[in-house]
Amino acid sequence: MTGSEFALIDNFFASPAVTRADVSLGCGDDCALLDIPPGRQLAVTMDTLVAGRHFLPGTDPWRLGWKVLAVNLSDLAAMGAEPAWATLAVTLPAIDEPWLEAFMAGFSTLARQHAVQLVGGDTTRGPMAFTLQAHGLVEPGRALLRSGAAPGDALYVTGTLGGAGAALQQLQQGETEISDTLRRRLEQPEPRVLAGRALAGIASACIDLSDGLAGDLQHVLDASGCGSEVELGRLPLLPETRAFMQQHDDWQLPLTAGDDYELLFTMPASREKALQAVLPELGCEVTRIGTIVPEPGLRFIDEAGSVREPGHAWDHFADED
Ligand code: ADP
Ligand code: MG
Repeated sequence: MTGSEFALIDNFFASPAVTRADVSLGCGDDCALLDIPPGRQLAVTMDTLVAGRHFLPGTDPWRLGWKVLAVNLSDLAAMGAEPAWATLAVTLPAIDEPWLEAFMAGFSTLARQHAVQLVGGDTTRGPMAFTLQAHGLVEPGRALLRSGAAPGDALYVTGTLGGAGAALQQLQQGETEISDTLRRRLEQPEPRVLAGRALAGIASACIDLSDGLAGDLQHVLDASGCGSEVELGRLPLLPETRAFMQQHDDWQLPLTAGDDYELLFTMPASREKALQAVLPELGCEVTRIGTIVPEPGLRFIDEAGSVREPGHAWDHFADED
């Protein structure tokens, strides 16, 4: 590591936007020292975004900085954990100060919203990539697992589906006039932290949607040992997403497209009142989209009540990571 890279750490990473009382030692030594409050479990998650694979070259740096943190806060939300700290590994081909300033401004804006302190990281030269580890706190026994769904539970999703996928397809096709509503769904996702916290103790299982509803719901079904019916007519869609699907004759988009970062959760009917009570705290809409059933497998029911079989395009999420 060169002198300029040490200066880079000092200039961009060493003074975090948020300082928390439970950080005994943040950036600057060999390790950070963090005080885990008594009676809490530490929830830890990590995600990497690689240029050209997880984001398009030329992506707005402010939104990219936001998204690097957002995708990890989404994982904490899916567990019902409260975000606390983060470490960030940055690999850059060259030092571009205005670019980094914008990247950290986006990162810090979201960090402030959720009181997340950046407590350390690593800075290296190489092909552009960002790895973030986020740390959250959750009461023992309250974490939302993928394995808790049971037959008869209702299946819900927060927010809307498929908007990020519609934006990505348009960008990949070189479309220039993309609605900013769709574009933000891809580039600046809103992690459902408040919803995750409020659903802890109410939902029976939860996962965040990063790889598409069909694949991610299957993870819940595999972990829980059951199946599910999803009603296609109930899937929450932005008008822009619906228009895109009609234009491309693609009814599978909200099932297969990734990057939604919404929460998918299951809940027994006995918790219906509890859910109604926390709705104002969630910070987003929730929509019931289906039911958990005993027979394994995933069935999609269209508005006429018939089972829809996905076509061969179905597998286009299979080789994504
Ligand atoms: P070491 O050689 O002991 O791993 P470094 O020289 O890599 O330490 O980093 C010096 C300090 O700067 C450490 O506290 C580290 O956590 C912090 N740091 C380095 N890169 C980043 C970054 N991208 N974001 C936040 N903190 C960073
Ligand atoms: Mg060291």
